[in-house]
Amino acid sequence: MKVYHISAECYPVAKTGGLGDVVGALPKYQNQAGIQASVIMPWYDKPFVQNHSWVRVYESEIRQGSQFFNYTILKEETGVLGFDLYLVRIPGLLDRAEVYGYADEADQFIAFQHAMLAWLNATGLGPDLFHCHDHHSGLIPFFIENCADFATLKGTPTLATVHNGQYQGWMGWHKAVLMPAFDSSRWGLLDWDGLINPLAALIKCCWAYNTVSRGYLEELFSEANGLESLFVAEQNKGFGIINGIDDDTWDPASDAYLVTNFTSAKVLTGKRANKLSLCSEYGLDASLPLISFIGRFAFEKGADMLAPVLEELKASYSGRLNFLILGSGDSKIQESLQPFIDQGNNFAIEFGYNEQLSHQIYAASDFLLMPSRVEPCGLNQLYAMKYGTIPVVRNIGGLKDTVTDIVEQKSNGIVFQSVSVDNIVSAIGRALSLYEDAKLFGRIRKKIMKLDHSWNKSTKQYIQLYENLINRL
Ligand code: ADP
Repeated sequence: MKVYHISAECYPVAKTGGLGDVVGALPKYQNQAGIQASVIMPWYDKPFVQNHSWVRVYESEIRQGSQFFNYTILKEETGVLGFDLYLVRIPGLLDRAEVYGYADEADQFIAFQHAMLAWLNATGLGPDLFHCHDHHSGLIPFFIENCADFATLKGTPTLATVHNGQYQGWMGWHKAVLMPAFDSSRWGLLDWDGLINPLAALIKCCWAYNTVSRGYLEELFSEANGLESLFVAEQNKGFGIINGIDDDTWDPASDAYLVTNFTSAKVLTGKRANKLSLCSEYGLDASLPLISFIGRFAFEKGADMLAPVLEELKASYSGRLNFLILGSGDSKIQESLQPFIDQGNNFAIEFGYNEQLSHQIYAASDFLLMPSRVEPCGLNQLYAMKYGTIPVVRNIGGLKDTVTDIVEQKSNGIVFQSVSVDNIVSAIGRALSLYEDAKLFGRIRKKIMKLDHSWNKSTKQYIQLYENLINRL
């Protein structure tokens, strides 16, 4: 079985969040399970791309409106990632340093999907199934059914994975001229509320879709940034498959980013060494519990709550804890945190994206706070647990599926119900009480490190879903 994952991100080539982690891991485990899974993504001006050797496999041009763009398909030469990786390079559009954030993003992702399909159509290299990830590959199921240019790919099964329903790739209808020529009588499949909506088109046209947790599958019926009724209407083809952890990258026993490696048997000394090092780097007091936040500064992550929470912690828990934040994103949230830097309250804040530091924080922290309003799966809590850090989470989406409060029997964290300063601070208060109960704290810490969040089960579920779709033909 030959499957192509189509994605904007793939770790370690390009990652801004969980999408990159998943697409960098799942295909590897699928290949180990015996299918042939590859990744096709845009070319970015990134260190991985610069430092690896590439074979040119195809070259041609596409027309976008009145412009012509040359494109090249490059394949990574060594197979170092555990799967075949193809990049679509389009000078002038897909040859930039960042994954997102350009004014012509719609043009970029239309061209990416167009060039990729034109290559596969011309060479007859089409897969048994396209696995499309989020809105960046959302037009593929529509294009292969409705564009005469991709006739050899028509009828190929498609699976869509919704990693984040908040971002939908909206564009005005004037962008339709940039697309490969399609059967215009089918325009309604692209439309949602008067705009071209690639995520909506993906859900309408795919053979099946899945979310990255079961909890999130159901939440989309009532909160999907405008697409609620679509998810309700299409629910018969919806599934929930939880993400896993790539043990090759995320294992405290072998993680090269850590000061000291450790297993669950050595959790006490291992975490202490990592905590001492991080606390000394950030001027924190290693004798106090360390609570951290890692993530995008976005409303959906509850990052706007960090500043008022720090204010409250300063008032109520001064001298009783450390709080460390690593994140980037919304500039207003960043500004709101600025006053807490260098206040001498055992608060430390690192702005930016820093892969190495994120590993060190998971290893050094006692607790990881996730006050998310929306959390499709959440990988941070899984990494935290693997590194012996107890998650303090809001009861939503994938967090609900993976974290159970300490009052329950199978407890592995601290859970609060809704996002408010009071609820977050009171959950942190409970975390501090747990920290003081050294025996229970140590027991939970050991236990969470041994939980199985590997890709094993989910890899099988994806392959089963592929088989069901392909056998439907
Ligand atoms: P998202 O919704 O952002 O994709 P996930 O929990 O699915 O959330 O995945 C987040 C991933 O991004 C994790 O690997 C996390 O460690 C990483 N991450 C988020 N922000 C940062 C940052 N500022 N620096 C380093 N890694 C980060």
